Formats: sequence, C-alpha cells, structure tokens
Amino acid sequence: MKLQQDGVTVWFTGLSGAGKTTISRNVENELRRMGCRVELLDGDIVRQYLTKGLGFSKADRNENIRRIGFVASLLTKNNVIVLVSAISPYRDVRNEMRDDIGNFIEVYVNSPLSVCEQRDVKGLYKKARAGEMKHFTGIDDPYEEPLCAEVECKTDLETISESTSKVLNKLEELNYIRSMYLMQASQ
Ligand code: ADP
Repeated sequence: MKLQQDGVTVWFTGLSGAGKTTISRNVENELRRMGCRVELLDGDIVRQYLTKGLGFSKADRNENIRRIGFVASLLTKNNVIVLVSAISPYRDVRNEMRDDIGNFIEVYVNSPLSVCEQRDVKGLYKKARAGEMKHFTGIDDPYEEPLCAEVECKTDLETISESTSKVLNKLEELNYIRSMYLMQASQ
C-alpha cells in the first residue's frame, strides 16, 4: 500500500542526552516501515558536513539551526517527513523555523539535567564539569524550554517506545500520515 503523505518537519529539541537521537531514529525506522518518505537531520552529523566549522556561541548555534531549517524546509515542500534532532537551545530561532517551514511539529524531549548528566551518553557532561568544554548547554550555556511544543516526551518517566508512539500519534492526529497505525500508548 502506498501511503499518502504531506511534508512536515518534526523538530526534536532538548538537552544533550535527553533522547532526541534515540527517539528520532525510532520514529524514522517506523515511518520507513510504513512506506513513508523520511529524512533525518541529526545535529551531530550535520555539524560534520553542512555546518562544519561552526562553534557553540549563540550566533553559531543559531546559524547551525538556520541552515538545518533551510534544508528541512526544502524537503518539507517536497512532501518528505523531516526529522530534525538538534539541541536548538534558543526559543526565538526555533519559532523562526516554525514560521518559515509552516508544517512544523515541535517535540520537546524533556529530561532533567541530573538524569542527562547521569546518562552521559557521550561523556560530555563529565568534560564540561571538569571545565574541559565551554558553552555546554545546561552547564554554562542556556537552554530555553519550548512554551507550546506539540509533543512533550518525558524521557526520565517514559519508555523509548512510549516516547516514539507519542510522536507517531501526533503525526497521525494532524493527518501527516494516514494509516491504520494503532499505537499502544493511546490506549
Ligand atoms: P540526545 O540525542 O538527546 O543527545 P541520545 O538519544 O543520544 O540523546 O541519548 C539518550 C539516552 O537516554 C539513550 O541512552 C537512551 O537509551 C536513553 N533513554 C531512556 N529512556 C528514553 C526515552 N524514553 N526516550 C529516549 N531515550 C531514552
């Protein structure tokens, strides 16, 4: 069965280690399984190519987000479901991307700093606490929480599969995917 689909950007924002990559990859796999056209723009990978050379000042972080947003908007116009996974700490520029892209779902991947730090998936919190990394979001750089995210995944309280289901259910609720996708989380 070929699924009908409108383009949309699903923007995952949150602290390092909150679960953006994990959830967005799961959503990507599930959407591909359903036959959707999907692209994942992961901040860590994008910074090796499209935004190579940019640092972590406010200006560079916002430039990083605007370039990702530009690519996301092109793909979205071409009926792709775009998953963006990036800390994107500044509310203004996230809202700018929302306005520019139009079909936009913000997912706040929310986990307390203490939990992210305990997970320390990439060992970066340890480095930041030791002063070996500067401008680390949550430690010595700000994170501005979304005020009106369409989805909030509380990853310290939910399983990965529950968080993934929340995102897929929102895509279905907003008619970006029209399938017979019945999620356990909504039961
Ligand atoms: P980020 O991309 O936000 O930096 P990662 O996805 O790399 O974060 O790491 C998140 C870690 O948290 C992973 O080790 C993942 O297994 C764990 N985790 C626990 N519960 C969840 C959940 N509900 N959603 C996402 N990740 C979770």
